[in-house]
Amino acid sequence: MKISTRSVGRACVYGGLFGSIAALSLSASGARAADTITRKPFGQTADGKALSLYTLTNARGAQVQITNFGGTITSIKVPDRQGRLGDVVLGYDSPAPYVANTGGTYFGALIGRYANRIAKGHLVVDGKVYQLAINNAPNTLHGGKVGFNQKVWAAAPVRAAHGVALALRYTSPDGQENFPGTLTVKVVYTWSDDNALKIDYTATTDKDTVVNLTNHSYFNLNGAGNGTILDNRMMINADRYTPVDAVAIPLGPLRPVAGTPFDFRRPTAIGARINQPNQQLEFGHGYDHNFVLNGYRPGSSAPRLAARAYAPRTGRVLTAYTTEPGIQLYTGNFLDGKIHGKGGKAYVRRGAFCLEAQHFPDSPNHPAYPTTTLKPGQAYRQTTVYQFSVR
Ligand code: BGC
Repeated sequence: MKISTRSVGRACVYGGLFGSIAALSLSASGARAADTITRKPFGQTADGKALSLYTLTNARGAQVQITNFGGTITSIKVPDRQGRLGDVVLGYDSPAPYVANTGGTYFGALIGRYANRIAKGHLVVDGKVYQLAINNAPNTLHGGKVGFNQKVWAAAPVRAAHGVALALRYTSPDGQENFPGTLTVKVVYTWSDDNALKIDYTATTDKDTVVNLTNHSYFNLNGAGNGTILDNRMMINADRYTPVDAVAIPLGPLRPVAGTPFDFRRPTAIGARINQPNQQLEFGHGYDHNFVLNGYRPGSSAPRLAARAYAPRTGRVLTAYTTEPGIQLYTGNFLDGKIHGKGGKAYVRRGAFCLEAQHFPDSPNHPAYPTTTLKPGQAYRQTTVYQFSVR
């Protein structure tokens, strides 16, 4: 299947009917390219549901691959400063390790119904207590035992003004993983011609519930499996973060980053302070913390600058924008080289970073945090953009 997502006029330009130079694009190899989405089979689930892998190629020839299993991003191929395409996200060549959520890594997946942790799996909605599964003792992590990352989503290409887009839909039944309310979720990935991957999430419910959705891509801007990210210079647009206890649950109060290893307001190598004696870094085994992004406006649909990472070796830059109040910087502290991913490459400790745009961890148990409650008649929305460029 090859789906042209261009308007008819633009598609015709590639057929040479209008001959408008302005509409022609060159791929990295110099060949003419149009935005396309293709689909191919990608194995099956344990219970025999067929899976697909979608390849979104923009007019520059840069590519994103997404499977309907977990709405998972399996690859992002973007140019380095020499124009050479490289795959900058960790993952696998085959579906089986995704289906197994090997090592509990959540490589590239959509996370729900509640990204990050809920302390002791204790959730109270409308005065009723819901005990969630403890899958990251003693807490609930990333939606419980079987999160949205392990569900088969309904996928369909959709029209996008600039680039190519894939819409994914999933309905989580009332009581799934013991969360109240039927949650109807839609996620649209749009891959634009300027190498920006936009993720638009929406959700509605039929009962009061909580929701916190994110994407769990592991980035290595030097290429997946090509060493650590410790020399990458990171900027995070956050004056404060949420310090945690020994099991990664926020203590409550926000703490200023100033004068701490959590101050990324100016670009700083991720590895510059990661091994400093610091209780928070010890609790996280490195960075595994939620940063309180500056300028959050509840309900705003305009993504704000959240973070920027730069890999000096290849020149690749990733800039993240989001509508969310927080972003979790996780520096792959639990990778240990045992997982071999694409091309058989080992994923070493700190061989990637995640920038998980989100509401704060354990928000349902912290009334002072921006709310994660969703009620019938309301719409949950979040937009996050991962923009790739070079320097
Ligand atoms: C968490 C980490 C966890 C990782 C993979 C991150 O979002 O903060 O503690 O190891 O996901 O599950």
